[in-house]
Amino acid sequence: MILISREPERSRRNEVLQLQLKARGIPRAGGKKKMIDIQAYQMTALREPFERVVYPLPQLAEGEALIEIAGCGLCHTDISFWHHGVPVRHELPLTLGHEISGTVLDGPSQWLGKPVVVPAVLPCGECDLCRRGRSNICQNQQMPGNDFHGGFASHVVVPARFLCEVPESVFYRYKLAELAVVADAISTSYQAVKKSGLEDGDLAIVIGVGGVGIYAAQLARILGATVLAIDVSAKRLSGLARIEIANRINSTGKTVTEIKSEVKALCKDLRAQQQGWKIFEMSGTRAGQELAYALLGVAGTLSVVGFTMEKLEIRLSNLMAFDAQIIGTWGCRAELYPEVMNLIAAGKLVIKPYIETFPLSQINRVFRDVLVNKLEKRAILIPDFGENKN
Ligand SMILES: [Zn+2]
Ligand SMILES: [Zn+2]
Repeated sequence: MILISREPERSRRNEVLQLQLKARGIPRAGGKKKMIDIQAYQMTALREPFERVVYPLPQLAEGEALIEIAGCGLCHTDISFWHHGVPVRHELPLTLGHEISGTVLDGPSQWLGKPVVVPAVLPCGECDLCRRGRSNICQNQQMPGNDFHGGFASHVVVPARFLCEVPESVFYRYKLAELAVVADAISTSYQAVKKSGLEDGDLAIVIGVGGVGIYAAQLARILGATVLAIDVSAKRLSGLARIEIANRINSTGKTVTEIKSEVKALCKDLRAQQQGWKIFEMSGTRAGQELAYALLGVAGTLSVVGFTMEKLEIRLSNLMAFDAQIIGTWGCRAELYPEVMNLIAAGKLVIKPYIETFPLSQINRVFRDVLVNKLEKRAILIPDFGENKN
């Protein structure tokens, strides 16, 4: 493959930033801040269309950053908030969106003008959990589009401490808006793979290769595992060819026992390890979880990444008999984001085939399409307030 390098976006973006700062009268550091307005699409009630609103920029508190949003990914959690009645922590109306990339316009001086990804889970950095390396599950954590107004807007105000700077080299391959998926879909997979203790030469079995699982499969391969993907969608499975994952099982219409023997046979063919499998349940379905547990054998590790309210009946003593383990994993430690960025900068992690961008003004149509699984790729909404008056 020949990579045609192009001028990084950065110098052009810096020029644009300077002009924007000038036009809005925002001083780069210190001085009196001039108020600007934030334009957004807000959720007003369950299943109601998002409403376009304007609200004044709140006064930035110490340590907060004002970010001009480049793109915000649409996650299934947003669908759960908007349509399935999962409660948001902030009262309605609320601007949803927690998969954000953008440029810092105001805030701590060391961040000014920097292109960043906003981690979907922003920890406090001070509590016992944060200090013990479990910041992703910090009980004081703040999530954009849940605890405060999020990313389906022109701007967002976030704590600056854990922002992830996008290195210049990334812009040879990606636009800043496209990197929004790093905030959640990619980083969640990265933490899951890291937490599983996956090592070079392991067999990784990824169940569900949708918007998040596709990155778990890629990351496991990048870290040296032989990857076996299982899904019910022939289309999703065939999409794995472009990231060189050849071992795929379509589980449609098969019993757990049938799939298990198929996995064993494939494992033998591949001369992969017969024990110590790293299994990743990404589908968030009962069928996926049943299969994942059935595959958990001697010295195995099952990582539960997908979410469902459904319950399983399992024999927990299998864990004892197999010396196996199950790991739950929530979000991603903010401290791991730079490692993900480095993989993207090195061209190892492929994003483009799995995302699709839309103008933010189409938010109502895009939410409805995602709700009925009409979109194959993860949607990233790009603010277009300048161009769209509706
Ligand atoms: Zn999410
Ligand atoms: Zn904390």
